[in-house]
Amino acid sequence: MKISEILNNNKVTVSFEVFPPKEWAKIDDTKAIITELSKDRPAWMSVTYGAAGTTSGYTTEIANAVKNLGITPLSHLTCINSSREKVNSVLDELEKNGIENILALRGDIPQGFEGGAGQDFHNAYELIAEIKKRNKFCIGGACYPEIHPESKNRVEDIAHLKEKVDVGLDFITTQMFFDNEALYNFREMCAIKEINVPIVAGIMPITNARQIKRSIELSNCSIPKKFERIMDRFGDNPDAMKQAGIVYATEQIIDLMANGVNNIHIYTMNKPDVAHRIMEGLSAIINE
Ligand code: FAD
Repeated sequence: MKISEILNNNKVTVSFEVFPPKEWAKIDDTKAIITELSKDRPAWMSVTYGAAGTTSGYTTEIANAVKNLGITPLSHLTCINSSREKVNSVLDELEKNGIENILALRGDIPQGFEGGAGQDFHNAYELIAEIKKRNKFCIGGACYPEIHPESKNRVEDIAHLKEKVDVGLDFITTQMFFDNEALYNFREMCAIKEINVPIVAGIMPITNARQIKRSIELSNCSIPKKFERIMDRFGDNPDAMKQAGIVYATEQIIDLMANGVNNIHIYTMNKPDVAHRIMEGLSAIINE
């Protein structure tokens, strides 16, 4: 099923993100994880794409396994490190496997990357245009409530987002954020700029204080005082931090839903127990 059809239903959706293994030998472990995650019946499950593109087959394999569990798969695809030929070979594979949804991304620029003449893709909008040519896929893209780390300012960031949406996105999924005000401001900005596709809010449950340090370095997102205090108090106690992280993410989602944000994407970090406990905390809310 196309995610655009799911989003058109006007219902609350909670979807999950998973990542494939780094080595083929662990593919069955990841399949066991998604089987566990599927028990919470997410609206769809997205599968990330290794930045270098060398494990693209793993993404397709896991997306296929998601499909076989009766859950709609969303396959991520990056382009910065890929040729047009490589991208089209992945699109052929996805089509062959009946995978209808792609999250089209540029990918992070690898250290020492030179690009230059002969580079087929520079930004996500070019990949979106390439996928769009086939007229087969529902296409999502990434967005950044607290602006992409490479953008000089919000004006530039939102103009580039508008450009890629206009090329052919059906929905956008946000980078994680911990302060819902960032999402509400971003939503208003999108409305002003007539970015009218559904915005799926990405929520990362932080269950390990070390993990958040790395996440912040990579993502540009701010940490509210409330969450900083939780980390100061419980950061050294793994069980307490996990419980507090799950409750914080659950409260964040409830506040989003109370403010009319109906589409939530949980960055599960391949932890079915964490995703399950959040879903338990939302059970009556999702089925309201
Ligand atoms: P773009 O939309 O191309 O934007 C990147 C930067 O370029 C921005 O600063 C933008 O303002 C600027 N820009 C855009 N268009 C132009 C233009 N025409 N001229 C000049 N500047 C421009 N990474 C992975 O490797 N694998 C994954 O599976 C993956 N999944 C992700 C899922 C989500 C929901 C998100 C939010 C991110 C994900 N990422 C993933 C990370 C993503 O690849 C990086 O954030 C990357 O740096 C930007 O990708 P993008 O598609 O947003 O790029």
